[in-house]
Amino acid sequence: MTRIETLLAKRLEAVSVSPTLAVMMEAKALKAKGVDVIDFGPGEPDFDTPANVKRAAAAAIEANLTHYTDTSGIVELRRAIAARYRDLYGADWTEDQVITGVGGKNVLFLLALALFEPGDRVAIFAPFWVSFPEQVRLTGATPILIQAREEDGFIPRARDLEPHAGRLKAIILNSPCNPSGAVIPADEVERLAAFCERTGAILISDETYDTFHYGPGRFASFASQAARLRDRLVVVNSLSKTYAMTGWRVGYGLGPRPLIDALRKIQSHDATHTASISQAAGVEAVRGAQDSVAAMLAEYRRRRDEIVPALNRVRGIRCATPGGAFYVFPNVSGAMARLGAGTSIDLAKRLMTEIGVATVPGEAFGVPGHLRLSYALSLDRIRAGVDRLRGLLGTADA
Ligand code: PLP
Repeated sequence: MTRIETLLAKRLEAVSVSPTLAVMMEAKALKAKGVDVIDFGPGEPDFDTPANVKRAAAAAIEANLTHYTDTSGIVELRRAIAARYRDLYGADWTEDQVITGVGGKNVLFLLALALFEPGDRVAIFAPFWVSFPEQVRLTGATPILIQAREEDGFIPRARDLEPHAGRLKAIILNSPCNPSGAVIPADEVERLAAFCERTGAILISDETYDTFHYGPGRFASFASQAARLRDRLVVVNSLSKTYAMTGWRVGYGLGPRPLIDALRKIQSHDATHTASISQAAGVEAVRGAQDSVAAMLAEYRRRRDEIVPALNRVRGIRCATPGGAFYVFPNVSGAMARLGAGTSIDLAKRLMTEIGVATVPGEAFGVPGHLRLSYALSLDRIRAGVDRLRGLLGTADA
């Protein structure tokens, strides 16, 4: 160990580098060597940012909107976000209850810093988005990992929180879920909100994929519970996926004013705010025409409807149909047994090196025996990737 390593803060010992980013790097390295990798790894849209949004950014540069802004973001953007929640979900948050940040990830981290400290317990359902437990650990608090059931479509259930009632500082939920695509139905949203109302736990709802919901019915946002959980609900969202704007780094949170003020205080000593130009583009994204979003949703649906049955035709893979987001999270225990892979990490490595198919192993999300495949890639590539899997593993019995 070098001297500098011995000097690193202890809090880092509990934390590892994002495993999804690690897969991305590995796939990149193979591609650089000339291997044709079919990459189901990335958690980002393969679409370009809509033209109206790009034009708004160019106009912002021309208009010299290139200076510091309010720490919580320009008021036009916060108003546009509050209006979105009023129009879509009937929530009455005002612009001073909105903070924007450098992606949803930054807003979630600000929340963790504002709320959590050693001794606090924070419930997170597995499979979980990779950064939730790590952000909690970085604050010295303890993530309480609760397994959602595969046979129940990995839906987080309020009844599974009961053994922890009264001992949780917060619960972090994510619907539609990365990695499972699970969507929490309206009646369960209601039960989870009732649990927090009764026990005093703060409810953090990450709804980064709310636009990519395939129905039936409308997406059940926790924003519908805003009046009931006035002092303890925070909804986090992002422009990254909805508008194919991952690189622009605009995320946001809506919640109780004193908490939003606390996030702002921390942000004033951290990033200050997200880029002024990205914020101007964000106003157009949220307020402008939404036809490109509808087109992306339709294309993701087409891909989902292609990849799920195709994967189920591969021996050793069992894939449920997700209700949202752009991921599938099939059970691959049969494939592991077939190839003699001891873990889904081993399986993912073999798929990468033997057939050039990049996936993310379930261990990254707290549920081994599964792989996450993103379908944010063209139908042709999806078909070619699944063909490679079938070539290696064989065709499932009808
Ligand atoms: N939350 C979930 C569930 C995600 O999948 C992601 C990105 O993959 C984020 C938050 C953060 O996205 P961003 O920081 O780009 O807004």
